[in-house]
Amino acid sequence: AQVNINRQLEMILKRLRPIAKRGNVELILESMREVTADVDEVKMSLAITNLVENAIKYNVDSGWVRVTLDADHKYFYIKVADSGIGIPEDALDHIFDRFFRVDKARSREVGGTGLGLAITKNVVQMHRGVIDVESVPGEGTTFAMRIPLTYIVRQEARP
Ligand code: ATP
Ligand code: MG
Repeated sequence: AQVNINRQLEMILKRLRPIAKRGNVELILESMREVTADVDEVKMSLAITNLVENAIKYNVDSGWVRVTLDADHKYFYIKVADSGIGIPEDALDHIFDRFFRVDKARSREVGGTGLGLAITKNVVQMHRGVIDVESVPGEGTTFAMRIPLTYIVRQEARP
């Protein structure tokens, strides 16, 4: 379905604002363009929510989360950057694996199952998109995804 991604991001941030406030984390939304894309609305919302939830959850007091939206003629781009604790280099390769959590002791205090990022990657891939992560321990993490504006479920063979 055609989804207004700007509005979708606004709704997600609005829903997470009370949680961010509890952790004294500032939520910032930067939309460079108006984006309408053919996506599965519920699944895409879940994929983005997981990223923003993590960015809040693994942040520091007085930290920030910046969500940016951009697009060109083919793709839209969402970045979720945070000023949080970061992810150690040796964990980056496993971050999208099911049930993987960095430092079990550390992440036991903040609840979770380790499924969020596996779900997010799955949703991105079913939209024929890609997702990447960059992180500096002690400085923060940025997840960047690129999704085609048109959601091709199955490539039809042409005569
Ligand atoms: P769930 O999402 O199922 O509630 P979770 O948040 O632990 O649990 P994922 O979202 O899959 O699981 O994340 C996996 C692990 O990656 C987390 O436990 C955390 O250690 C690390 N992680 C994810 N996002 C960030 C981030 N923005 N900053 C620092 N660490 C992160
Ligand atoms: Mg999570």
